[in-house]
Amino acid sequence: MTEHSRIDTSVAHPARRYDYLLGGKDNFEADRQSAHEIEKRHPTARLSAQENRFFMHRAVRFMTGRGIRQFLDIGTGIPTSPNTHEIAQESDPSARIVYVDNDPLVLVHARALLTGTEAGRTTYIEADLRDPRQILSDQELKNTLDLGEPVGLLLIAVLHFIRDDDDPVAILNTLIDALPSGSYLAASNATPEYMPAEQVAALRAVMERQWRDRTGPELRALFDRPDVELVAPGVQSVARWWEQDAPQPRPAVESVAANGLVARIV
Ligand code: SAH
Repeated sequence: MTEHSRIDTSVAHPARRYDYLLGGKDNFEADRQSAHEIEKRHPTARLSAQENRFFMHRAVRFMTGRGIRQFLDIGTGIPTSPNTHEIAQESDPSARIVYVDNDPLVLVHARALLTGTEAGRTTYIEADLRDPRQILSDQELKNTLDLGEPVGLLLIAVLHFIRDDDDPVAILNTLIDALPSGSYLAASNATPEYMPAEQVAALRAVMERQWRDRTGPELRALFDRPDVELVAPGVQSVARWWEQDAPQPRPAVESVAANGLVARIV
């Protein structure tokens, strides 16, 4: 089967829908319709997507500022500039990035756009977060990242596609166990906390079967290990995390339906 024949454009897909919400062009009618259904329930869905993306930018800059020079970005999405490698390579052109996504369409775009440089290798793996061992044992990952040195693990807007019965804690433990001390991780997850209950119920009703929004404490609980130390200010709305470096003015948390955290692996 070719890559293209595995791409079903008649069904909405999260990566393409998110691309549409961010103002991208790599989406189809089913994705746009699904985005409009979400916007009916959460009218600031575009702002939520954009703020999540800005959180990712700040988290990567935070990590590069602490010496991180290699990143594992899982659930990377359709490339939207600036991507992780562009931000990481601002401070060091030799920064290396492994992108992972389970959507074959992301792979098609990633091959075209996520080109590395001589110094800063960028690779792309089509794999599923629910199979972390496959990700960690991938030869491309081994060729690109040195797991003996600190890594920045990015799980941005992907954990809400991991249901409780996928055992997210076990998945995350496998990934964190593979990272040396001094590594960092950043995660964001859709949250029901800042919207009225009716709106939460309406939104859940239109989301995929696997959709799992999480409150701040629920997100925190996924990383409840003694060697994972939350960076201040802890779990926050993505609009509020390290807000002093964010574009101003900051939106109200009620219009941004996601929380984020950054943590250090000690
Ligand atoms: N991290 C990017 C994109 C988020 S959109 C950002 O925050 O800007 C969520 C992405 O996660 C989509 O590209 C989707 O294809 C991917 N995804 C969803 N479930 C996944 C899984 N189980 N394994 C790997 N990727 C997944």
